[in-house]
Amino acid sequence: MKKLLSNLPKVDEFLISEKLEEYKDSVPYNILIKSIREGIAFYREEILNNRLADTEMEKEDLKMEITNKIIKLIESKNQLNLRRVINATGTIIHTNLGRSKLMESSVENIVNIASNYNNLEYDIPSGKRGSRYSHIEKLICDITGAESALVVNNNAAAVLLVLDTLTKEREVIVSRGELVEIGGSFRIPAIMEYSGSKLIEVGTTNRTHKKDYLEAITPETKALLKVHTSNYKIMGFTKEVKNEELSKMARDKKLISIEDLGSGVLVDFAKYGYKKEPTVQESLKSGIDVVTFSGDKLLGGPQAGIIVGKRQYIEKMKKNNLLRTLRVSKLTIAALEVTLREYLDESQAVKNIPTLRMILEGKDEVEKRAHILYEKLKTLETLEVDLVETSAMIGGGSMPTELMDSFGVAISYIGSSIVKLERVLRNNSLSIVGRIQGGKLVLDCKTLNENDMDSIYEILSKGIDTI
Ligand SMILES: *Cc1c(COP(=O)(O)O)cnc(C)c1O
Repeated sequence: MKKLLSNLPKVDEFLISEKLEEYKDSVPYNILIKSIREGIAFYREEILNNRLADTEMEKEDLKMEITNKIIKLIESKNQLNLRRVINATGTIIHTNLGRSKLMESSVENIVNIASNYNNLEYDIPSGKRGSRYSHIEKLICDITGAESALVVNNNAAAVLLVLDTLTKEREVIVSRGELVEIGGSFRIPAIMEYSGSKLIEVGTTNRTHKKDYLEAITPETKALLKVHTSNYKIMGFTKEVKNEELSKMARDKKLISIEDLGSGVLVDFAKYGYKKEPTVQESLKSGIDVVTFSGDKLLGGPQAGIIVGKRQYIEKMKKNNLLRTLRVSKLTIAALEVTLREYLDESQAVKNIPTLRMILEGKDEVEKRAHILYEKLKTLETLEVDLVETSAMIGGGSMPTELMDSFGVAISYIGSSIVKLERVLRNNSLSIVGRIQGGKLVLDCKTLNENDMDSIYEILSKGIDTI
């Protein structure tokens, strides 16, 4: 052990090593030196704990081994923390994997706006200061039929701004069947508390009647809030008060009606053979005063929270100081405007917005893609490959009971466990996230494009021990 320890090369010896030469210019010095130190420290521990197989290792061999470790460390430290992954889960709006993918023209617009000066808060005709919110308000109104609109950082922020502006220190009535928690700890009762509004729960988990709301209304009541139970379904013996009734009740009692729609659907999914999902347009038409929804769920755009509704309420929100802390960036506006413009022609929206396209495409299209991946992977001798039928999901807490017929490729790696295969692919520098099912790793093609498939093939053809 002593000999091995004294054979450990010093930092300087690695700094002049030929094998590390290429990294000296291409990697920040900080990362290089840290990786060298960690590499040496790792091997010192290995030696001290008798974990080195070859106890008689020559100095040059030891140096070579440590160099390989250092290269691995450099590569892992030098890659970005937030990076692209391949989503082979079949879940389209995967909250852990970044929700909706943007359409290409949205991305191009982000690049153009971000790499140049722009009129974010500049009114070009007058040459005076303008408002960042002005660029998309009219567009949202045209699409949804709203009087007014406002965009903030995300839907949770939208709900907070609505309550903080309109119902502070007053009571807001919500059905017990709608006290939702969305992943990442968005809870209606908690948001209500931050806003200084008082939550009044009515009805029961499965049934809430009009009279439950009516009985709860007091002089302190300011609003009736409906929350779309987007990520779960209460089935069986159920009753809820419909939007039309709720908004009428609010008008009769001089209260504000608010709906947190969550997903923000702008096209009628029922037209395409899906279960009815209430659209933003319908919610407004039913007489609801203020509606909020996300930009990156079923709308298929960037992360944003969109508030639409009566002008008098939206104007108040625009004057709320809280808005400054929830405001959207120019990058969001750049992407959202391009995405929203697609909705001016629905036939374009369903074709060009990736989230909508993946949801609405026919079964045969995903089958075609699955065949392409199947044929590619079949040529690899190290793999056992099957074409399988799967069920893909919309995800993002949207339409949880709607499964889509999909196809995938189930793989196993000869001589390796599925657990290892899954782990290795996930930890590859371009991570592949699939799901283990029936003792195989299933790569669902619902969420894969041909570019992803080329990458999957390339990665797997290297063999999992070298990845
Ligand atoms: C998703 C969702 C939210 C949170 O929206 P974010 O855009 O993630 O902040 C709030 N309410 C409902 C009903 C939702 O579905």
